[in-house]
Amino acid sequence: MRLSQTLLATLREDPAEAETVSHRLMLRAGLVRQLAAGIYSWLPLGLRVLHKVEQVVREEMNRTGAQEVLLPAVQPAELWQQSGRWDKYGPELLRLRDRHRREFCFGPTHEETITDLARRELRSYKQLPITFYQIQTKFRDEIRPRFGIMRAREFLMKDAYSFHIDAASLEETYQQMYQAYTCILTRLGLEFRAVRADSGNIGGNLSHEFHVLAEAGEDCIASSDVSTYAANLELVEVPAPTVPRPAASATLGEVHTPGQHSIAEVSAALKVSPEQCVKTLLVNGADEQPVAVVLRGDHELNRIKAERHPDIGAPLRLLDAAQVEQAAGCPPGSVGPPGLKLKVIADGAAAQLADFVCGANRAGLHLTGVNWGRDLPEPQRADLRNAVTGDPSPDGHGHLQLSRGIEVGHIFQLGTRYSAAMQAVCLNPDGKAVPLTMGCYGIGVSRLVAAAIEQHHDARGIIWPAALAPFQVILIPVNMHKSPRLADAVQQLYSELCGHGMEVLLDDRKQRPGVMYNDAELLGIPHWIICSERGLDQGQVEYRHRAGTESQPVALSTVAGFLLEQ
Ligand code: ATP
Ligand code: MG
Repeated sequence: MRLSQTLLATLREDPAEAETVSHRLMLRAGLVRQLAAGIYSWLPLGLRVLHKVEQVVREEMNRTGAQEVLLPAVQPAELWQQSGRWDKYGPELLRLRDRHRREFCFGPTHEETITDLARRELRSYKQLPITFYQIQTKFRDEIRPRFGIMRAREFLMKDAYSFHIDAASLEETYQQMYQAYTCILTRLGLEFRAVRADSGNIGGNLSHEFHVLAEAGEDCIASSDVSTYAANLELVEVPAPTVPRPAASATLGEVHTPGQHSIAEVSAALKVSPEQCVKTLLVNGADEQPVAVVLRGDHELNRIKAERHPDIGAPLRLLDAAQVEQAAGCPPGSVGPPGLKLKVIADGAAAQLADFVCGANRAGLHLTGVNWGRDLPEPQRADLRNAVTGDPSPDGHGHLQLSRGIEVGHIFQLGTRYSAAMQAVCLNPDGKAVPLTMGCYGIGVSRLVAAAIEQHHDARGIIWPAALAPFQVILIPVNMHKSPRLADAVQQLYSELCGHGMEVLLDDRKQRPGVMYNDAELLGIPHWIICSERGLDQGQVEYRHRAGTESQPVALSTVAGFLLEQ
């Protein structure tokens, strides 16, 4: 393609609204433009990238034997009423009325629609297992659309749904999909982790999320430094300590800590590390009586684990200052487990401490040298905290490291959640009608474009992985408009490379070389061929890779072969 005939909508300045690298670069490189909050147009160069993702996804889905369909974007409310989600889905669901005042929604996902298709078309176990997929625009009225197309309201998703006669067959397809997702992300050149995940509100049992690792990610992923174990930080179980607690060696003391409320303030004033302090949070109990939750000073409460504890209320609520005063007789910053007339539940690491520092349940006072069993009763122990870097990996192999991830894919074993509610049944080999067992498998096609940029960029622009680049090669002729000889040679090279099936962008604009280089860097085209009259005299061009800094001469006659080998 000739750049002079392409809509090159690059911006020199950083757009003020862009909070993340990918959002900024997608706007600056002219890949997308916002039409309304969370609603984007894809411009020609951006669309080429989006199509690349689509194509890889489609190929890998086809390879599993899944069949492509295209379901309607607009769905009748009745289907959602049958599944029970019309009322449950909340304001993320864009609801519409037609001229007859019948209710519809714009599909945020398609479990209902595909289950309706399945109950009409699938009759016998002989047709199973079967998997359908589509690549389609979804709409979710996200409360905070942000980061450009990363969390948009209108976005492109590949969603697949599989149907089975039993759980064993679902398990098999689930594993195939897991492999297909691994292939997709590997082919796209992305570093990722597959993590065990909570199944959220779609309902069901086993699920995995696929995360592209990048600083801008909204999720925190804990993974083993030696094995393939990876999980959402929220879900990582921390095993109870296996070594005995150190013996008490200090005597119990009382220190004045006026104005020091937080762990950071207290540990700095007393010159003890936060690891040697405990923090005591008063929360709502399951029976509405306050409960004290005790954590090591450097640890964070894990809300999901707390809410699962039988003695702790769900949803979890921290008591406010007045309620703390009433329950403990002091302000929140001075609460400590000794002498509290409440149920005390300590996280494993806090229960493991000897000679620790904690609040004295009196304003401006803390206790030092405190020991469980000696100065206060042994607490009830539970796993209540988030894992931290260096914790042993729950699979017994290595230690955990934390990274940030962008969720780009999500696979679920749904079971009969939808088929039972919507009466999607099938005859089993005994001739008995049983609900279909289902799996669903989503991948954020448009989000993947942003995730790839988050992982592959530098200060000057995008560095596309080969499989995603809108063009593989850019031809940059220096001052071509002044040299018919150069123009001829470049034209010939362009035709030759295109003839080899390469995707080539020819920068034939009447621009200074500096402008051409800046745009090529911003656009992130991997392979650059720089042509000049001087080079031509020696029968040479210059080759550079977007990710490298050095250029190298290549004989003009061998450029095509050279590029094919890259
Ligand atoms: P998130 O936790 O990011 O809201 P989700 O759990 O709601 O995601 P799913 O319902 O599992 O997402 O959708 C499948 C895939 O669709 C996600 O893995 C993600 O890649 C993509 N996706 C979901 N919401 C958006 C969005 N608002 N913008 C772009 N892509 C999205
Ligand atoms: Mg969501």
